[in-house]
Amino acid sequence: MSRITYVNGRYLPQREATVHVEDRGYQFSDGVYEVCEVRGAHIIDQRRHLARLKRSLAELEITMPMTETALAIVMRECVRRNRVRDGLVYLQITRGVARRDHAFPPPGTAPSIVVTARTLNVAGNERIAAEGLAVITVPDNRWERVDIKSISLLPNVLAKQAARERGAKEAWFVDRGGHVTEGSSSNAWIVTMGGTVVTRPADNGILRGITRSVLLDVIKAQGLKLEERPFTVEEAYGAREAFLTSASQIVMPVVRIDDRPVGNGAPGSVATALRAEFHRHADWA
Ligand code: PLP
Repeated sequence: MSRITYVNGRYLPQREATVHVEDRGYQFSDGVYEVCEVRGAHIIDQRRHLARLKRSLAELEITMPMTETALAIVMRECVRRNRVRDGLVYLQITRGVARRDHAFPPPGTAPSIVVTARTLNVAGNERIAAEGLAVITVPDNRWERVDIKSISLLPNVLAKQAARERGAKEAWFVDRGGHVTEGSSSNAWIVTMGGTVVTRPADNGILRGITRSVLLDVIKAQGLKLEERPFTVEEAYGAREAFLTSASQIVMPVVRIDDRPVGNGAPGSVATALRAEFHRHADWA
């Protein structure tokens, strides 16, 4: 079955789904994106993802190309047409097509929109969750507006590649003060020896992950101790547990940081319990 992609108003087989060479996404990374989990053919936390999308667009002064309701229908249709039960919906909106010039194109230039959906290897992800994964740390060399979910991801691409080359699955960015900001495509968490869950506040230096927001509700509901504060790499090395969150990975235990075992080197009980509990607190569209 050929994959179907929605592009600027049409559902097309992926090989025919193309964008113009002067699309500003291609020329300047001038656009934003969202990734939602699909589980049992439902889109998880769609409302929150669309709210964040609207915020990212507003911050960059890109107009929303269609209503939220229409966009939700397109996302659902992509899931249906690609027969995705468990996987992801990806959507990207750019400032549109215009003769190459750094400044914004003329008013009225239509934004471009692409939506795709694909199946994920759920069993494979569960195996990774059962074993835990390794992360490395790298200097955070990104711009200051990482709160915007922009498609400008070059530092993230290089960080992820550095992780791969060192046998790890994720890279954690570290700011100049030695504090972990977040992963290249995930938020970063630790559990202290005293059992407190710690994650960086979402007001500076990170993307406000939707999985992160839902997990804060789970943590409160479970009565766990929580501190939203920056933590250092040293503190992460000495933590009882570490984990990361994203729409595609939910809660993933981290068992090694820079080749040092975290805790006893196996997935921790807090991360494992939070992973098991997550979907009871998420919204199912
Ligand atoms: N931080 C970064 C840099 C990301 O790219 C992502 C997801 O892609 C996240 C955090 C996690 O966000 P979410 O939970 O909304 O997937």
